[in-house]
Amino acid sequence: MNPVASEPGVVAPDRLRLTEIFLSLQGESRSIGWPTVFVRLTGCPLRCQYCDTAYAFHGGQWWEFDAILAEVARHGVRHVCVTGGEPLAQKRCIGLLKRLCDAGYEVSLETSGSIDIGPVDTRVSRVLDLKTPGSAEVARNLWSNIGELTANDQVKFVICSREDYDWARGIVEEHGLTAICDVMFSPSFNQVSARDLADWIVADRLPVRFQLQLHKILWDDEPGR
Ligand code: SF4
Repeated sequence: MNPVASEPGVVAPDRLRLTEIFLSLQGESRSIGWPTVFVRLTGCPLRCQYCDTAYAFHGGQWWEFDAILAEVARHGVRHVCVTGGEPLAQKRCIGLLKRLCDAGYEVSLETSGSIDIGPVDTRVSRVLDLKTPGSAEVARNLWSNIGELTANDQVKFVICSREDYDWARGIVEEHGLTAICDVMFSPSFNQVSARDLADWIVADRLPVRFQLQLHKILWDDEPGR
């Protein structure tokens, strides 16, 4: 389906700038493996050194909410992941998330952790990506987001080095994150050995979940997969 353009002179309905909507398997997080529709919003104020979605920084097309809902429904699956870019950089994302929840979908949101997650509907599983020093964007973490987390949410660390691992372990312990929600550690692709990261977690008996990005193993990080 094509996005629906607003008529000139008519009050613009709710709409968002999207890079793509596609059906794939959820490649990470607690919902790994489920057939999932991904709604990728355009734009991100961060520039993580390992970013694999730089193609979503610019461009995109305006989609009205009704058109997004129709396209999601066309794929016929229960799980929807709103991602980016940084989806919360477009304020109307909050309204889309509510519409998706009201429509009965299992909704997750992938967010950089740099923008307040407080206004997000708590039916959404918010996947908060806390930025490590190795990401080059650690200064963007909005630490007050930790106070917003519930058991329905998830925290993710992308680990780029042993130093990042030690830092992330310290943050998990300092904030008692594993008592709040699931915490995931994943190796930054081609920057740290997945086996080393697995060994460090096991050696420390750290109560976090190791994960590999399934979509990169299956489809070699092809956009839209
Ligand atoms: S927050 Fe996500 S989309 Fe934005 S630069 Fe970092 S990895 Fe890329």
